[in-house]
Amino acid sequence: MSDLVLVINAGSSSIKFSLFETAGAADPQVLFKGQMEGLYVEPKFTAKDAADQKVADEVLPADVPKNHDHALRHMLAWLEQRLGGREIKVVGHRVVHGGTQYSKPELVTPALIAGLEALIPLAPLHEPHNIAPIKILQDILPNAAQVTCFDTAFHTTQPELNQLFALPYEFAQKEGIRRYGFHGLSYEYIASVLPQIDTRAAEGRTVVAHLGNGSSMSALLGCECQATTMGFTALEGLPMGTRCGSIDGGVLLHLMNHLKMDAKQIETLLYKESGLLGLSGGISSDMRALQASDEPLAKFAIDYFARRIVRETASLAAAIGGLDCLVFTAGIGENDALTRALVCHQLRWLGVEIDEAANAVRSGEPRRISLADSKVAVYVIPTNEELMIARQALATI
Ligand code: AMP
Repeated sequence: MSDLVLVINAGSSSIKFSLFETAGAADPQVLFKGQMEGLYVEPKFTAKDAADQKVADEVLPADVPKNHDHALRHMLAWLEQRLGGREIKVVGHRVVHGGTQYSKPELVTPALIAGLEALIPLAPLHEPHNIAPIKILQDILPNAAQVTCFDTAFHTTQPELNQLFALPYEFAQKEGIRRYGFHGLSYEYIASVLPQIDTRAAEGRTVVAHLGNGSSMSALLGCECQATTMGFTALEGLPMGTRCGSIDGGVLLHLMNHLKMDAKQIETLLYKESGLLGLSGGISSDMRALQASDEPLAKFAIDYFARRIVRETASLAAAIGGLDCLVFTAGIGENDALTRALVCHQLRWLGVEIDEAANAVRSGEPRRISLADSKVAVYVIPTNEELMIARQALATI
């Protein structure tokens, strides 16, 4: 008899879900996936079935509560109508921050919830929204085992050399100000499939570029993380859709002292108005829109993004003593042949020889896009964070 596994990825204004059914020794299969967007404004529920057909598309009535609690109850009631009395046995939650304590998935207990609450100061914008659904589902699905899967866990193998900022040592020890890294569930998925795709890469030195609306890169040695571009928050490293990526701390002092910007204004600038959106002069944060634009600043933003990926690749390769494999994943990494080509052309000196025809192929499958004799093997591998959470939740119970 197969079991049902619910995966929840909750943010401040949306809750995404995927419902999986176990399939023996094979990976769990998706039955439904969907989301409630626009929480606290105009909640809208959409869902698709296993064949990727839309099966729900509704704006919630104006008189119902617009909060997380109601959104989850609506989702679960919708699912219940389609499950013919079958119970959801396991719930896996994406949790952004596991601090230094949680380096693997954890079964939810009162002690774990207290531990997660203690981490709120490290991720005040995200952690509370990850914790709230756990408590709500304890009420709605009292018989389900719940498991938390952390976006930071994969990076806990980084040596301290790559984790610390060059602040006085006690800032890392006492205040937890260190480079945690994020997108860990995506990297874990890539690390889990790499051995079947390329054993040399899985055993050797691989850089993975997770390029989406949020972007980061990680250096793996034998599929374990050694270094990553994101740091204390998901702001460091590459420029992103609207986030600036790494910035000289002196700029922040200048913004405060000379432009008299306060913390909230600086937060908005760094998180919401920078990156591709800011560099393109406001054209778009979306790579597809930039590719479609004839404006010189759109091209500049794309070139800038590619150049930063090139520089981070070299830095990460240095941290693992060279490069055997480069993997592109997430929305831009999987779909944007132009960005991949711009990056690979600038990495020829490192032994990257892209196969232009293979790079142009559109496919949802993992594929090699480097020439057969390229010193560095280059792959496009679609990520699957939801499946990773479902696998981890099942393995944990
Ligand atoms: P993600 O956050 O992983 O969903 O990725 C979102 C980013 O992927 C956005 O910048 C999209 O413009 C970009 N993206 C998605 N599909 C394509 C595509 N076919 N070509 C170029 N960029 C794409």
